[in-house]
Amino acid sequence: MKTYKIALLDGDGIGPEIMVEAVKIMKLVAERNHINFELTHTPFGASAWFQCGSSFPDATKLVCDEADAILKGPIGLSHEESKKIPVDQQPERGALLPLRRRYNTYANFRPVFLPKGLAHFSPLKPEIIGDGIDIMIIRELVGGLYFGKKETGINAAGKRYVNEMLEYDEDQIRAILKVGFETAMKRKKVLHNIHKSNVLKSSVLWNEILDEVHKDYPQVKVVQMLVDAAATYLCLNPGQFDVMVMENMFGDILSDQGGGILGSLGLMPSACIGPDKAYYEPSHGSAPDIAGKNIANPYSMIGSVAMMLEYSFGMDQEAKNLWQAMQSVFAKGFSTPDLSKPGSGVKMISTSEFGDLVASELRAMPVPN
Ligand code: NAD
Repeated sequence: MKTYKIALLDGDGIGPEIMVEAVKIMKLVAERNHINFELTHTPFGASAWFQCGSSFPDATKLVCDEADAILKGPIGLSHEESKKIPVDQQPERGALLPLRRRYNTYANFRPVFLPKGLAHFSPLKPEIIGDGIDIMIIRELVGGLYFGKKETGINAAGKRYVNEMLEYDEDQIRAILKVGFETAMKRKKVLHNIHKSNVLKSSVLWNEILDEVHKDYPQVKVVQMLVDAAATYLCLNPGQFDVMVMENMFGDILSDQGGGILGSLGLMPSACIGPDKAYYEPSHGSAPDIAGKNIANPYSMIGSVAMMLEYSFGMDQEAKNLWQAMQSVFAKGFSTPDLSKPGSGVKMISTSEFGDLVASELRAMPVPN
């Protein structure tokens, strides 16, 4: 029997709750497809800091090194709670960025998807949504401002100062742009290049390299767009976008806006792909405001499992089945509380009920050959 080792990083806040639902689904997928998922839970994030004194303990690194894929829950604490952890050990700086660096997971795929039938979840008007929203945001994940040199101190005038560098080399830019073009080739052959070349030198270099890479993909139409304008167009005319490619921080911000136009960050899964290792995580944070209440939307976590099935294990049809199973639950009139207000005519369900309903939808589907 084929065996895949999967490291499970439950994380913080709603992480453990939505991980339970992902595990429920992975066990079903394994059973249906006669494969074995060897699942190993391992601490990561703020919970790991309190448990073992490190946000990314060595034991977790070992489990991840040996895994065929990593499934990660969101990490982080509320603003106030974060202060209990030293700045450099706080979950993003102490765990998330080191995880990305360790496996060079430079290509972050963030689907922003809402079929027409579920348009009522979106805060946008039906005439804006049209046939639905279907965008793939491709975000560079291991460069730019988040990974550049950082310096803080007192300057000559006696003032506290900070200096953070936005660094990219041409190979990093070329690598992510190739991912953008390859993805566009598989979809509508339109690539929106999101940048800020009117201000940032990094965007000027980015665009120079884009022109070079474009020569290898003449079939792809490139649309140039400044990041500030892109933020507006995501609200006013999301239908114009198919594949969007951008640097790290722009992708962080615009992809959360993607969740906003869908109706909830709970609809945002992601895949973070490196040359030898990939990890999968919801795009959102640990949602401390709703943690422990069994009301988080686990779609983002189960969607990350679907992406893992496709990108890491080549189980494309089962991944499609899983997306379909989740959509069917919503199409039957169920909703998690993030997507609907009480009294809006939907049947409100909890985190665990969503997982159970997805499992029963999937169980009813034919098993891929
Ligand atoms: P957040 O993404 O956790 O939450 C923003 C809003 O979206 C909240 O109202 C929350 O309840 C809601 N939300 C998010 N996911 C949801 C889901 N699955 N179902 C229903 N509602 C959902 O952002 P935040 O509050 O700014 O950050 C909280 C913590 O998460 C911070 O410590 C932050 O640093 C961290 N964070 C971690 C990651 C990551 O692990 N990759 C990403 C972003 C933020």
